[in-house]
Amino acid sequence: MNPEQLITLEAGQVLQGGLSKMPAQLSEQVQYRLQLGEQQVAMNPLLGKRIRLQWLGDINCIHCGRESKKSFSQGYCYPCFKKLPQCDSCIMSPEKCHFHQGTCRDAAWGEKFCMTDHVVYLSNTSGLKVGITRINQIPTRWIDQGAGQAIPLFRVATRQQSGLIEDVLRQHVADKTNWRTLLKGPSVPQDLHAAGRELLSSCQAEIQAMQQRFGLHAIVPVLEASETILEYPVRNWPVKVSSLSFDKTPVIEGKLEGIKGQYLIMDSGVLNIRKHTGYHVSFSLLAA
Ligand SMILES: [Zn+2]
Repeated sequence: MNPEQLITLEAGQVLQGGLSKMPAQLSEQVQYRLQLGEQQVAMNPLLGKRIRLQWLGDINCIHCGRESKKSFSQGYCYPCFKKLPQCDSCIMSPEKCHFHQGTCRDAAWGEKFCMTDHVVYLSNTSGLKVGITRINQIPTRWIDQGAGQAIPLFRVATRQQSGLIEDVLRQHVADKTNWRTLLKGPSVPQDLHAAGRELLSSCQAEIQAMQQRFGLHAIVPVLEASETILEYPVRNWPVKVSSLSFDKTPVIEGKLEGIKGQYLIMDSGVLNIRKHTGYHVSFSLLAA
């Protein structure tokens, strides 16, 4: 990113734009930016300060820009939701991939985003969790989920195959995060390598069957891969986690106590920024 596009917000300055998922970078502490249209605001320096977000009443589709009454699939209008490959049900359930039947909503998109190397990983969010992601989405995916630690378990040739492996593993480990637990404190450290070895030995037969089906080169265990530790910028964890949304509260104000995953943690409640992708908002820093 071009550093001069990164805005350091001053008290009284008001910015406007459509929200996107917060871009973030792995550092000693995860560094977050709030994206408003083309503008990006450095969020870590705002910790401990009072911020104000106001929904201005519009939602624009992140694909076509069309105004939409509701946001579908985190930021799309209804026609795009029905038409785009990234909104198809096989994205949430990769085992339903229908690329090989020639019915992918957009084969070029599928080629680029699904028929490419994926990683099946083990992370620690509100506890142990398995998941899948495109290889170039590491560590972004882990940051977005608020994981405290993560290791890759397999390198897999396609999204569908990674989904099939995940399906086997989630018989033994959760594949969901409890977001309330996630926002109540840092995750309790776990020995991911030991947990990963144990998990793989309990699923050995199924994994071998999968390797026979798709080829050894398609499903490669990477158990010795190094662990990524993620630390989030949080000053105070909420005792009670209350969720804010622009649909209910168009004006959201509060002292920014932390950021984890895609959540802003304020003394007035927590706001999932990703859930509000496409919402047109104003953002300002209030005088102390
Ligand atoms: Zn659209």
